[in-house]
Amino acid sequence: MRYFDHAATTMMRPVAREAWLNASRLLNPAGQYQVGRKSRRVLEDARELVASLLGCEPIEVIFTASGTESDNIALVGQWQARKEQHNRVVSTAIEHAAIYETARYLADQGAQLDVMPVTPEGFVHDPDNFLETPAAVVACMWANNETGAIQPLPDVIARADATGTPVHVDAVQVVGKLPVNFHELGATTLAASGHKFGGPRGVGLLLAKRSPAPHPLIHGGGQERGIRSGTVNVAGAVGLAAALEEACADMAAEAQRVAKLKQQLIDAVTTIPGARINTPAEFALPTHLNVSFPNAEGDSLIMMLDAAGIAASTGSACANGVNRASRVLLAQGVDEKLARGTLRLTLGYTTTEEDVEYLINHLAKAVTMAQRAGMAS
Ligand code: PLP
Repeated sequence: MRYFDHAATTMMRPVAREAWLNASRLLNPAGQYQVGRKSRRVLEDARELVASLLGCEPIEVIFTASGTESDNIALVGQWQARKEQHNRVVSTAIEHAAIYETARYLADQGAQLDVMPVTPEGFVHDPDNFLETPAAVVACMWANNETGAIQPLPDVIARADATGTPVHVDAVQVVGKLPVNFHELGATTLAASGHKFGGPRGVGLLLAKRSPAPHPLIHGGGQERGIRSGTVNVAGAVGLAAALEEACADMAAEAQRVAKLKQQLIDAVTTIPGARINTPAEFALPTHLNVSFPNAEGDSLIMMLDAAGIAASTGSACANGVNRASRVLLAQGVDEKLARGTLRLTLGYTTTEEDVEYLINHLAKAVTMAQRAGMAS
């Protein structure tokens, strides 16, 4: 299989698998006896390693079970902590469902929700000045999961900061790909997910400043600063830390390598009539290419590629088997019909030049066949 869906999940790195396996023998890190203390030491080593790689203090590192969980804790927990003073939540039109749906849930719970739009290239802006007045929390992603568009975070954070509003950053697509320094960034909380950079699936990270801290969503034994109760998944934390260490060590060279591969893909894609690249490469992650083709359904494109042994995605979930245009692309103002014919091709650390050549050799034919299959009305 030629795999072009690394933004969904990527292969576990051998160093992470080995670290995970070794740590899987460990018991409860809260145990007061020798094996418990050993487990606690290993967990704290992983926490320190993560903190040193992401520019924060170990106490600011909270292990969770997913990026989705980290996003939920930050958004719901911060709103709960501050809603008596400020009942407003500010977010963006292009957030991943983990934030987008959570923000809608908060609106159902009585929060006032303000959603910032994006430019035609996919960058958040604030024409209504939502950032000029205090809110319970502002949530803005660092890079979009469909287009890879890197958002103007320093501006968003500076403006929210000026009103004393905490900012949550969904950095799930960025951690392990771009340098992250939590303290320099100045965000209040930041979410990441191990399986996006070669760690185990089912382990997430929430970086959380000491104050203002989000209220916990689940209540129990008070682990992880009381923000995320439950016996900590030590092996998961260790595997995540090992993957992050390798991803950060290889980051600069890897970014150059995949950027070259992406350029080859762009060169090939732009020879296909009517193709529209949805975010300019210079402002996107080097791993993401989001392209729409006219007169084709995304699910036909995926099926044609799959038949040739290529795994790719449309970038948007299909509801009840009906191919729908991505709400991210619609927010960018892409025409609904064109947006339905979209491929998200994402590269990762295992992607080879042969993979890219293979895709290039099959892409134009897959597009033609999908166009021949026609569009649903
Ligand atoms: N946020 C973004 C931007 C993502 O891309 C994803 C996963 O696709 C998530 C959050 C959710 O992460 P997880 O799969 O670990 O729950």
